[in-house]
Amino acid sequence: MNPILVALDVDTRARALDLAKDLHGVVGGFKVGSQLFTAEGPSMVRTLADRGERVFLDLKFHDIPNTVAGAVRAATALGVWMLTVHAGGGNAMLRAAHEAAAEEAARRRTAPPLIVAVTVLTSLDQPALERVGVTRPLPDQVTALAGLAIEAGVDGIVASPQEVRALRSGLGPGPIIVTPGIRPQGARPADDQARTLSAREAIEAGSSYLVIGRPILAATDPREAANSLALEAEAGAGRSA
Ligand code: C5P
Repeated sequence: MNPILVALDVDTRARALDLAKDLHGVVGGFKVGSQLFTAEGPSMVRTLADRGERVFLDLKFHDIPNTVAGAVRAATALGVWMLTVHAGGGNAMLRAAHEAAAEEAARRRTAPPLIVAVTVLTSLDQPALERVGVTRPLPDQVTALAGLAIEAGVDGIVASPQEVRALRSGLGPGPIIVTPGIRPQGARPADDQARTLSAREAIEAGSSYLVIGRPILAATDPREAANSLALEAEAGAGRSA
């Protein structure tokens, strides 16, 4: 399928729905994150899902297992296709998320949402990690949390462009890897992304899905921008790690 997931980082339901309409059929799905979800609520997700769109609910659940299980059941009921949790929530929380998705989906006779785990936020560097008590090297922490998440039964992880190749070689071909920080080939305005990959490079390195915001949202013609990113990704698919 088309690996491009568009980050609907906008404030209003109207803008999100306009974008989704414009991009229908040329992208693989839409990411609803904390900004849009907090502004517009679950009906935003339900409307997109009811239109047949794949919704990637990026709320990064991180709580006690019982609470996360409840949130995952609620997301399943909304028709979410994929959602995020924090791997740092630990084995029991990750297992609870996985089991809740499977149980609620079976009860509703639908497919369970895919669950992907965030390892270490890319806003944290080594000193910041040390201040929260993690003293091992950052790449080791990422690898350890990715392993923990997959072992607990989740479907994959979110990995920055810096991490994707190493994680794919460590995890093997099975787990999903979702990668943000993608910029179009050639001209690559970085915005606030410190390190970027092109869609083709990310797929070649082993990404399964690419989360792309501003290069599509801020384009003069978002549909055309999405289309050309999808073609770039397709070019990488034949050569993936
Ligand atoms: O506009 P841009 O393409 O940079 O958007 C990328 C999306 O991925 C945003 O929704 C951003 O919050 C998210 N993200 C990211 N970097 C990470 C994790 C998530 O840019 N390390």
